[in-house]
Parts: sequence; structure tokens; C-alpha cells
Amino acid sequence: MTGSQTAANPAGLVDGFGRVHRDLRISLTDKCSLRCTYCMPEAGVPWLAKQSLLTPDEIERLVRVAAGEGVETVRLTGGEPLISPNLIEIVRRVAAIEGPSGPIGVAMTTNGIRLPEFIPGLEEAGLNRLNISIDTLDPDRFRELTRRDRLIDVLAGIEAARRSTLRPLKLNAVVMRGVNDDEIVDLVEFAIEHDAEMRFIEHMPLDIGHTWDRGEMVPREEILAALRKRFRLEPLPDRGGAPAELFEIDGGPAKVGVIASVSAPFCGSCDRLRLTADGQLRNCLFAREELDLRTALRGGASDEAIRDIFRASVSSKRAGHGIDDPGFVQPERGMNAIGG
Ligand code: SAM
Ligand code: SF4
Repeated sequence: MTGSQTAANPAGLVDGFGRVHRDLRISLTDKCSLRCTYCMPEAGVPWLAKQSLLTPDEIERLVRVAAGEGVETVRLTGGEPLISPNLIEIVRRVAAIEGPSGPIGVAMTTNGIRLPEFIPGLEEAGLNRLNISIDTLDPDRFRELTRRDRLIDVLAGIEAARRSTLRPLKLNAVVMRGVNDDEIVDLVEFAIEHDAEMRFIEHMPLDIGHTWDRGEMVPREEILAALRKRFRLEPLPDRGGAPAELFEIDGGPAKVGVIASVSAPFCGSCDRLRLTADGQLRNCLFAREELDLRTALRGGASDEAIRDIFRASVSSKRAGHGIDDPGFVQPERGMNAIGG
């Protein structure tokens, strides 16, 4: 760890389109306890080498520099962050870093497996918020979709989160035609029962197996139509840089969100950067270029040199993800290795 911190940058990490970057998503591992079909294949995944994974010292130093550049929130993800042996230590170190407007806010996206045993440690270490992924409430479907028979463990994780202090609690589901698109209302009711907000995500072309088919994707309009059959939805204003478009349900306070990355991209207000588990900085989920922070760190780079890598990544960010461009090519890394 370095005790030094570069001087705060009053302008922040601003790209060529005026977007200010305040959120850093950090993947802690590319490995996972599930094998969701939209994310990775059953076998044959080329795992990252153990020695290439960033250490807690390295992550702490990068977040410290990013905080000096205006980053306010960090989301830990993966792969599955709960299988990282360093998770609690990383949460503790990141939560202790002072950002531009107080301590860095720390959130985590997880599949929830083994969450009950981790929650007390995560709360004590300073985690603020949780997103848990749950695509179906049906055990057979869950087994087909994730190739593992572990719905019961995910449900236990959600129940533990309901009893925790971590709020707001969000549940994520990727909607897939003919797989779980008939569960949209059930998932919202389940979320409300667990004091959580449901978020429906459009299926994106990010799986290692390259199985994505635009025609099969369930778009925002269909998700909203399914919700409106059962609920009265009122759009909520002030989305800011958030990926989810939010709706109040039946006059509130319950809410539901739709993340329509494909049919209604929100690139114009994106404030996110991504760090892979092996220390590569990406300015977009769909980026094909990465900047190598790990080699810089391990080569003795100064905080200023690391800061310049953050600035270079931001200044080369494109206006949009380009999924609709005729020349769109899916990134080489799958979602598990990018960090969702
Ligand atoms: N393992 C954790 C989990 O599943 O929550 C964290 C990592 S996962 C890559 C993060 C999020 O990305 C999950 O909500 C998952 O559903 C979502 N995701 C993965 N592949 C996706 C895809 N092809 N399209 C849309 N969302 C995807
Ligand atoms: Fe694992 Fe999350 Fe990918 Fe599913 S989406 S395989 S839980 S990393």
C-alpha cells in the first residue's frame, strides 16, 4: 500500500463528451459458483492466472488514486465476488478511502450463494449496498439456466440480505424469451416481499459462448407491457447516471427498474469505469481496448502515472457502445471476466 495520494482533480475524470466518471466497478475474480448460460459455458473457460489477479494492496492503491480523480462509488463484482478469499479485506480497505464527498460508497453484485455466512463480516467491513441476481423462482428452470441446483442457496442469501442493514437491496434478473419472461410479475412480488427493488436487465451480447440473438431478446417495451398487466407504473425522474430506468409501483413506495442497455442505451449519461480482476482498465462493458494498470503497478509506477492511465482511458471513451453499428464486434472477454 502507498500512503500517498495525488492531489484531488477538481475537474474529475471528464471524457470528450462531457461525461464525468464517478463509479468504478471492480471484478475480484472471473470464477463463479454458477454457469449462467448468458454469461459462460459449462466448461472450457480459460481462467485468469492466479498471479495475475490484483492483490488487496493493489486494489486499495488504485481506488485511492481514482478517488483523487473524483470517483465516489465502487461496485465489487466478478465472476462471483463471494468466492474471492480477499473480499472482506478489500471491502474494509476500500470503504476506508476518502472520496471527493466523504468515504467511498461500496456496493457488491453477487449471485447470493454463501451470502448468509458473509453478511455480518461485510456489514462490519463497511459494505453499503447489495445487488443479488435471481432470474427465476423455479428450481428446475434455475438448474437449467445456471447449470447448478442451487436456487435454495440463492434464496437463503436473499433472506439474509433482507434481515441485514444493507439498503437499498436490489434483485437483478436477465429476461429471456421462453425461459423466464412469464415470471416478470412473480419476481416483482417476490422482491417486494423481501424489501427489495426488482431490476430487469435486457440480455446483452456478452457471453463467452456468443449465443446472443437480438431477435430472442426481450426488449424494455415487452418487459413494461408485462408489468403493466398487473401493476400501475409511474416513471420516476432524475435517473442521473444510473443504468436503470425506475418506476414507482401502484403509488409506491415499491419500485421496479428496467436496464435497457440494448433497446434504449443510456451511454449519454454513463459515469462508469471497469477494472478487471487482472488489472485491466476498461471504459465500457463493450470496449475492445483495455489499459494495463497491473503492469504499471508492478513496474513501480508513481501515483501520477497511474492517474494518467485513468485519464487516458476516460479520454478515449467512445460516445456509445455501438451494438447497433454494422461493424459491432463482441468484446473478447465474457461478462464473467469483465465484471457486470
Ligand atoms: N456473479 C454475480 C452475479 O451474477 O450477480 C456478479 C457478476 S455478474 C457478471 C453481474 C450481472 O451481470 C448479473 O446481474 C448478471 O445477471 C448480469 N449478466 C451477466 N451476463 C449478462 C448478459 N449477457 N446480459 C445481461 N446481463 C448479464
Ligand atoms: Fe456467475 Fe454471475 Fe456469470 Fe451467473 S452471471 S455465471 S452468477 S458471474
